[in-house]
Amino acid sequence: MGILSRLRSVMIADATAETRLKLVTDIVATDFVSEVCSIYIMRAGEVLELFATKGLKLDAVHLTRLRVGEGVVGAIAASGRPLNLSEAQDHPQFAYRPETGEELYHSMLGVPIIRGGRVLGVMVIQNKTQRHYTEEEVETLQTVSMIIGELVGGGELVKKEETLLPTDGIAMLPLRLEGVTLNSGLGLGEAILHEPRVVISQFVAEDPDEELERLRKALSEMHGALDDMLESSESLDAEHRDILETYRMFAEDAGWLGRIREAIKAGLTAEAAVQKVHDDTEARMAQVQDPYLRERVNDLKDLANRLLQHLVGVEKISPEDMPLNAIVIAKNMGPAELLDYDRKRLRGLILEEGSATSHVAIIARALDIPVIGQAKGALGRVDYSDQIIADGHNGQIFIRPSDDVLAAFEKSLKASEKQKALYAALVNKPAESVDGVTVSLNVNAGLLVDLEHLRETNADGIGLYRTEIPFMARSAIPGVEAQVSLYKKIIEEADGRPVVFRTLDAGGDKVLPYWDNHGEENPAMGWRAIRVTLDRPYLLRQQLRSLIRASGGRELNVMFPMVAEVTEFVRARRLLDMEIERESIKGHRLPSRVNVGVMLEVPSLIFQLDSLLPLIDFLSVGSNDMFQFLFAADRGNPRLSGRYDTLSPPALNALKVVVERCKEADVYLSLCGEMGGRPLEAMALVGLGFRKLSMSASAIGPVKMMIRSLNVGQLERFMAEQMGKSHHSLRTILRQYAKDRGIIL
Ligand code: PEP
Ligand code: MG
Repeated sequence: MGILSRLRSVMIADATAETRLKLVTDIVATDFVSEVCSIYIMRAGEVLELFATKGLKLDAVHLTRLRVGEGVVGAIAASGRPLNLSEAQDHPQFAYRPETGEELYHSMLGVPIIRGGRVLGVMVIQNKTQRHYTEEEVETLQTVSMIIGELVGGGELVKKEETLLPTDGIAMLPLRLEGVTLNSGLGLGEAILHEPRVVISQFVAEDPDEELERLRKALSEMHGALDDMLESSESLDAEHRDILETYRMFAEDAGWLGRIREAIKAGLTAEAAVQKVHDDTEARMAQVQDPYLRERVNDLKDLANRLLQHLVGVEKISPEDMPLNAIVIAKNMGPAELLDYDRKRLRGLILEEGSATSHVAIIARALDIPVIGQAKGALGRVDYSDQIIADGHNGQIFIRPSDDVLAAFEKSLKASEKQKALYAALVNKPAESVDGVTVSLNVNAGLLVDLEHLRETNADGIGLYRTEIPFMARSAIPGVEAQVSLYKKIIEEADGRPVVFRTLDAGGDKVLPYWDNHGEENPAMGWRAIRVTLDRPYLLRQQLRSLIRASGGRELNVMFPMVAEVTEFVRARRLLDMEIERESIKGHRLPSRVNVGVMLEVPSLIFQLDSLLPLIDFLSVGSNDMFQFLFAADRGNPRLSGRYDTLSPPALNALKVVVERCKEADVYLSLCGEMGGRPLEAMALVGLGFRKLSMSASAIGPVKMMIRSLNVGQLERFMAEQMGKSHHSLRTILRQYAKDRGIIL
């Protein structure tokens, strides 16, 4: 009889959990031909207590206790990974416990007991000889530990409260994970997993045939569901279809299914078998660096999860059940998915992938929640209801934070609330410098919630309305009627303040869910923005028509993105004129005036200002794109983020040229990239001559405070002197300048 069959009879035996645990150690010690088998269980306070042993002194049971991280057993619990040691005493963390008589043993194999992503204990076997345990033995012991997880989770061995209260010590250690800041801010809340993880409660099966039948049924349901998705995916892009096709292929993979069936025949339930085969594959693939293969592992993970959902069923969190303070954790997600959550309850977003320009990050910025991206391994370490701190200031997350971390967090939160109150006190004050220079401060928008921000901040207007955002959050391109009603709402809610509508900047990283972007190699420099809309003039004409109609006789501001040469603007402008004429012939009310602008995002345009400026009413620098192209440095790549500085002489000189040319041509100039929302950068921009900035709403307060403490004339003179020098960056010099003169940054 195999080990699993013998364990099965123990699991269903009419005995206390503690007796059953003891029987497990006996069976395992015999099966592995080991002198010792011990089981440690996690108690409140993150202590591992010896609960059962075959081979160690029985007096040590309930007496030997190790903190997580202490000793080899504690090291296994802390890492959540097996340790296979032929000489345990050589391990740097070996801790000697005289009561156990442990010094007699040399080799040791230990595996964590994990259930639902948590370490509930550790199981070890020991031998007197210097034995090397095989891969197969490690795997078998892991399977056994899965089964023990069920016993421990049952609540009989350790008080139910201890297993139920995740912050009470039974969970894994508090953890800090590094990521990158995609939106700053601080958030504290309970974890919600965006893709629910299936928790397996039954590991050992009574009847393998029944389990094989369950697997067959679940597989056929899953195939059906995948086929349905493929059928209805005709409107989806090629990439999405590819993924589904790959799933379909994997789902029929004989090797994968064969291994699952084998595990069932060995005595596991269908769900435990799927989980086990998946864990094995993942462990084997952990070292693989090849990105293509890594993606395939992710595909397999998704597939295993789908199959588990068919086997066990899973409840998605309903909106009412969403915790009042929620931190959402996901591998990645689309913008619409984030908007599905009740934003009043959202306190933060953690992504295992994601970059600053990913659309979900742009949406999260509008919702004003901290976002931490590239938090590798977050999903595997977090469980539902775990307490999480999303520290968007430092790009890190704290999982199950300890009391001192929580206390530090409360302090930072209080400090930032105090700061917010100071900004709020400035709401009705002008952004006017001490020497009387006024700077127009505007918000960047893309969601209806941004209009609330416009009112709250009392900004001068919307300096950049990203029209692609509402396009991204829909399942199809909105028609004229839908666009008119949306733009109308924005204009009305802006209540007389100017709104600059940027025409569709789709493509690149801002993929529309219903759009085929042909998998470009350099999407930021690819078929995006005006390149798309000039190739699909109908789309641009529909949008311009909608804007004209929505303006209902008021002034309209339209801006074209990613213009690289004047002819592109001329063609776009012609389409606008055609639409104005068309609307006029049809008897629609025309805007009282149409101001037409261009975004300066492609450096080539700097060398065409002579011919461009006479044709336009305003120019807005999109510094996010402009500097990524100027320095040839991907704006979404965290490895490059500190490499080139927007406050370096080449960057500032480029801006200086633009300021001067616009002044000569009397064209209104603004800047609407992220740079304008950072006080030090905003100070430099004002020192160069910028008088209009547009930024995310949360930046209005800090930038206004800076301006109100600044003497613009003095700064302009200082910057003129510094610009000619060959600094790497003016950052330090400008910071010192501000410090010496009491400018609040
Ligand atoms: C920019 O490029 O600076 C900009 C404001 O546009 P977006 O961030 O939407 O590309
Ligand atoms: Mg841009």
